Amino acid sequence: MIFYGSQASRIADLKINGTTCERCQKTSAQHVSVFSKHAHLYWIPLFPIGRVIVSECESCKITIKQKEFSAPLKSQLQLQKDNIKTPIWKWTGTGIIAMLIFAIWSISPSPDKDPRRQLLKNDLMLTSIYPEESSDTTSAKLKTMFTTLATVEFRSDRFEYLTKEDDEKILVLIKMPELHRVVDEERDAIIQIVEMFTSNEEAENVKPVYIGVSNGSRMILVKTPDSYENDDYASQKPLYAYYGNPPAE
Ligand SMILES: [Zn+2]
Repeated sequence: MIFYGSQASRIADLKINGTTCERCQKTSAQHVSVFSKHAHLYWIPLFPIGRVIVSECESCKITIKQKEFSAPLKSQLQLQKDNIKTPIWKWTGTGIIAMLIFAIWSISPSPDKDPRRQLLKNDLMLTSIYPEESSDTTSAKLKTMFTTLATVEFRSDRFEYLTKEDDEKILVLIKMPELHRVVDEERDAIIQIVEMFTSNEEAENVKPVYIGVSNGSRMILVKTPDSYENDDYASQKPLYAYYGNPPAE
């Protein structure tokens, strides 16, 4: 249960002489009390939310609210009002919250500034359900293979592919929307199929292959020359190596 609401505390007492009491019609001192209301959470003041001013007649001891004050009492009070400051502790809770937010903000890690992250993001947006046979032969072959192998529930018609290849390395990105439902061993088979289609054993130099298979929202299978992760929340960072070295600090 959350305890919150408003509380009031007396912040000033004034004695105003020479006005006539509205009740007893005597000219005697009025004891004016100023209360400051504040919102609280678990009784920790958050911020001030206004004032309540009352006055007690020294003669008849009747207490009246501000709206009942006589005009002379009001104007006398007005003269002194500027001197009544709301104490700073009324902001304690707000201050604590602000400090907490600042503390959390200052200890949280800075966002990933690695420019390779954006390069991977761009490539992930370029994956296609219908890879071009002419421009992306490997993806077209993979699509044929997975369409043949995958069961209907696995929705192979929605798979997306992108293969990039330069003189030194190969990148294969695949989106399989239902991948998180697939058991680990079958996921391993996906990697094996991709490797089968990307390895050219007749070539003089075997190119390193970077494979990232996501379910469209997060990486699940990530295999690079240095790492292999088969996990519902695999890190995409090993794929950054495809785009080159990390930026200098
Ligand atoms: Zn009175």
